[in-house]
Amino acid sequence: MAVPAAPAPPATEQPEFLESCDPATGDVIARFRATPVAALPEIFARAHRAQQAWAKVPLRERCRLLGRLRDVLFDRRGELADVVTRESGKPRVEALLTDVFLALDAADYYARRAPQLLRPERVPHHSLGAQGKRGWVHYEPFGVLGVISPWNYPFSIPMGQIIPAVAAGNAVVLKPSELTPWCGALVGEVFANAGFPADLVQVVQGSGALGAAMIELSGTDRPGAGVDKVLFTGSVATGRRVAQACAQRLIPCLLELGGKDALLVLADAPLENAARAAVWGSFMNCGQTCISVERVYVEDAVADRFIARCVELTRQLRLGHGLDPQTDIGPLIHERQLEKVEAQLQDAVARGARILIGGVRRPDLGPRFLEPAVVERVDHSMRLMQEETFGPVLPICRVRDAEQAVALANDSSFALAASVWTRDRRRGRQLAAPLRAGAVMVNDVASYYGICEAPHGGRGASGWGRTHGRLGLLELVHPKYVDVDYLSWWPKAWWYGYNQTLLLAAERFVEFLLAPTRQQRWRAARGALAMLPFRRPGVR
Ligand code: NDP
Repeated sequence: MAVPAAPAPPATEQPEFLESCDPATGDVIARFRATPVAALPEIFARAHRAQQAWAKVPLRERCRLLGRLRDVLFDRRGELADVVTRESGKPRVEALLTDVFLALDAADYYARRAPQLLRPERVPHHSLGAQGKRGWVHYEPFGVLGVISPWNYPFSIPMGQIIPAVAAGNAVVLKPSELTPWCGALVGEVFANAGFPADLVQVVQGSGALGAAMIELSGTDRPGAGVDKVLFTGSVATGRRVAQACAQRLIPCLLELGGKDALLVLADAPLENAARAAVWGSFMNCGQTCISVERVYVEDAVADRFIARCVELTRQLRLGHGLDPQTDIGPLIHERQLEKVEAQLQDAVARGARILIGGVRRPDLGPRFLEPAVVERVDHSMRLMQEETFGPVLPICRVRDAEQAVALANDSSFALAASVWTRDRRRGRQLAAPLRAGAVMVNDVASYYGICEAPHGGRGASGWGRTHGRLGLLELVHPKYVDVDYLSWWPKAWWYGYNQTLLLAAERFVEFLLAPTRQQRWRAARGALAMLPFRRPGVR
């Protein structure tokens, strides 16, 4: 499958100010001073100093501050939701639930659970268990994490990464998207309000060039100079650039990239709910969600009814400004996003697709409104079925059966999430196995992202690594194995003085532990006993 080529490298010059625009009107609603690239070394030096002090703060105290953060988020929830809506264009109910609530819930979750999740973990030993040893994995902070975030969930995505990062003892330098600097600034503000130490969570404002410069500063040969790990969320093209830059400097990175999520409707699906889920899953946040439904495969037997219902539900949707509580769908974030969606629709129509509803601009509402579209007669020759659309388009493809649906769902370079609709829950779970995805929901869409314990992340062009839950937390720490030998007075038999006796003893030892039959193991044990007492080599 084709993956879009990486764009040209970002220009290194930075604007002096970043303008925050309301995408519904195009009006400038706030201005932020951009961070000069030259200021980065000092910012990172402060971050490293703050991190070293923070790592010494007991975990319970760190979590107590996370509890304060939760309270700050709760107190400021209305104002935060307003800013998210004004800057990203999404309906306020979505801003409240998918940006503010998710951050609040993450703060509450890690405040309560981090002590348990980060507790040193006892490691039961396998073959060498009887050697008088005990082992534990301790979790140490990475250091300073560079969080580079997109504009589509400008508050919950960075917060969902920064909260566990600081719980684990890291400091963070966040670079929000230049399209959502206000939300980025608020991330820094709420940590300061909650009483976190100065410089622990810093926000730098700028274009992609600033994100690139954060990585350029860093490297294993320059400890303390830049980031120790990058948490990147964004497009495939930029993710590839970030991975290349990190690889050159041997810095680890986590990549949360695009998606082309499939929704499978089986003949026994609860059809009304499946149609509602497809419409919401495809159009929420105007389709600008990494785990939005980007392709539907519906079994022939129910396809007509399903498609008709999707069209009907789409017709009822109301476009408007996100601050209007009646609004279902806001504008797209940017003119270039509209053009990308339109180009995919044109390509699909030229190849035989039929737009059943929507797909036209609404300049009467504002410069970036597009009516949500339902498209049928689509196939995999179309860009609409191959590339991430990231707009309000629901392409529906009829399939013979579930096997064909799975095969088509897997025919993609992306592998982020998928959804299966069937009344037979067991069959739904069975179908999750062959689906190539980081998460599969049976009879729901996207909501797993809000489950604190559920890991989120993809494969292939959707990136690597996980955020959220225990697996996400483990991305933010260095596991360190600590082993304690309880027989400190007993020199080990293999500490030199190698001779024939030791070799024979070693052979019996290997056979005793791992010979395939019980008989062989007994024979080895008897052989070893017959050798006792053998001279401990090394003591001459
Ligand atoms: P981009 O890749 O354009 O940008 C992401 C971030 O990277 C922005 O802060 C951007 O800055 C910055 N950036 C740009 N160039 C560089 C560079 N060379 N080095 C370092 N940083 C750079 O993505 P979008 O903001 O357009 O976000 C949309 C994409 O994000 C979609 O593909 C979507 O699927 C994906 N996404 C994935 C998620 C997941 O969890 N898998 C979740 C949400 C979104 P600036 O904006 O200032 O240019």
